[in-house]
Amino acid sequence: MRILLIGRQGSGKGTQAKLVAERHKIPNISTGDIFRDASALRTDLGMKAEAYMKKGHLVPDEIVTSLVKERVRQKDCRDGFVLDGFPRNISQAKALDKITNLDKVFVLKLSDDLAIKRLSQRRQCKKCKSVYGGIIATRKKGICDKCHGKLYQREDDKPAAIRKRLSIYHKETEPLVDYYKKKGIVHLINANQPVEKIAAEISRHLYHEADMLEL
Ligand code: AMP
Repeated sequence: MRILLIGRQGSGKGTQAKLVAERHKIPNISTGDIFRDASALRTDLGMKAEAYMKKGHLVPDEIVTSLVKERVRQKDCRDGFVLDGFPRNISQAKALDKITNLDKVFVLKLSDDLAIKRLSQRRQCKKCKSVYGGIIATRKKGICDKCHGKLYQREDDKPAAIRKRLSIYHKETEPLVDYYKKKGIVHLINANQPVEKIAAEISRHLYHEADMLEL
């Protein structure tokens, strides 16, 4: 199964992508995580991406597309993958069509107000990348429950960058919903539900699809 998750920032798309990947034993390809790792390691790619990310701007299409092209050709993607954060606009979607075909696109729907509220409270673990609804959402303040790594607030989760990112989402990413609707592979989900409920809905849908393929 080649799966894509679309959702505005704060919709829980990254969390769901990780869960789906774990449950279905396929890799989770998050372009945002790849850029953040590269930036922490001070690689060429990381330094290039960092300048755009900090301001909440998109990294140029050529850089992201060639990165994803290389990644999906790796062996572990043979049985599928979950894409999170790519494609981000129509031109990236067209580039992806030339690389591979998607089987299913899940769109996590959430209002801007709720997205802003969630993002300003969000904290991420520096070590294992787990995302929390806030520092108080963990057993020990500011420390990851899973790996005891330090939690931090992403530079692009600060208010000015959030507003910029949401406006880019509406302008550039939202049109992807219609793009994939025309291909008949979109499933819409209400993202204002507990994480487990959303994960169960996605899994139910994927198992149903797999059953249909076997018939
Ligand atoms: P995310 O974690 O998906 O919100 O991504 C964080 C940042 O990484 C974005 O604000 C962009 O600067 C950059 N980024 C991630 N994926 C893409 C993409 N497909 N195209 C352009 N920039 C991206």
